Amino acid sequence: MRVGVLGGGQLGRMLALAGRPLGLTFRFFEAAARPPVSELGEIVRASWEDEPALDAFAEGLDVVTYEFENVPVHAARRLAERVPVRPTPDALAFAQDRVKEKQGLEAVDVPVAPWHPVDSAEDLSEAARALGLPVLLKTRRMGYDGKGQSALRAHGDVHSVWESLGGRPCIAERVVPFDRELSIVAVRALDGNVAFYPLVENHHEDGILRRTLAPAPGVTPALEETAQGYARALLERLDYVGVLAIELFQVGDTLLANEVAPRVHNSGHWSQDGAVTSQFENHLRAVTGLPLGSTALSAPRTVMTNLIGTLGDVRTVLAEAGAHLHLYDKTPRPGRKLGHVNRVG
Ligand code: AMP
Repeated sequence: MRVGVLGGGQLGRMLALAGRPLGLTFRFFEAAARPPVSELGEIVRASWEDEPALDAFAEGLDVVTYEFENVPVHAARRLAERVPVRPTPDALAFAQDRVKEKQGLEAVDVPVAPWHPVDSAEDLSEAARALGLPVLLKTRRMGYDGKGQSALRAHGDVHSVWESLGGRPCIAERVVPFDRELSIVAVRALDGNVAFYPLVENHHEDGILRRTLAPAPGVTPALEETAQGYARALLERLDYVGVLAIELFQVGDTLLANEVAPRVHNSGHWSQDGAVTSQFENHLRAVTGLPLGSTALSAPRTVMTNLIGTLGDVRTVLAEAGAHLHLYDKTPRPGRKLGHVNRVG
């Protein structure tokens, strides 16, 4: 089967690396000159506005999926007229807008931090009064890795905080005094079958994921069940096909959903070496209509560490027993994810 992938970053690269053994071939839609998917398939280099290029991209494909969640929805909808797009453009639209995302989570009774839509400094002022300080202001769209966020700590700072995000439509959210950050990666097949990877524990620095412990230590069966129930409810509501990740805050025995990623997720990279079937393979199995693979652990614990900004001497990593190196073929730059290491066992 021939799979089209929207985007050509490291997630696309790892999808292709997982898909080749299944006999899948890949075509990527990506504007960058030398993206991480170079040499892993055909590349259509064009902008999302280029409709003839989108039509040519769709030609001969069996299915289209995403490796990048900010694909303009209009591009996904145009493709969906020609070829199955999984997950659906509606699921993409849901995850691109924090208001739709919060409303969608609330509609299936998944708890989220108290929030308000904010379209002006006056709205922010009202939200701060209603929610209590401090609050986090987040842009509705295009936020990732802590970008497009600003904290309001004093009522006197309403205007400067509002202007710091460029006056774009936002939401304000109560700051959650969480014990830790967890995430769940789940996958739904074309026939509706659902599988879950275990809850993992995530550590961020400067808004960027640094480390994932899989499974998260000290998770009770009740907490695992709660997370799985939330993921299942959302997958079913969205009639979702593929891998989806939910970032969660743990507060005592409860979980609040922070963000939904409609794609394979950095906190699932450990599964390449620590699970029977990786998130990448399972995403491809789902979107191509194949049966899902086992999400069981293949080692008691795997720790995933992102390599950010510079690589250093990778030989020290390769000398470690149980360490697996995954590089993305990207030019080093401060704050850029260049690869990761999975330490198994
Ligand atoms: P996000 O871009 O929404 O994933 O947020 C990036 C990071 O900011 C999260 O991983 C948390 O560490 C932190 N964060 C986001 N929202 C909240 C919140 N409501 N309360 C406390 N911390 C938050």
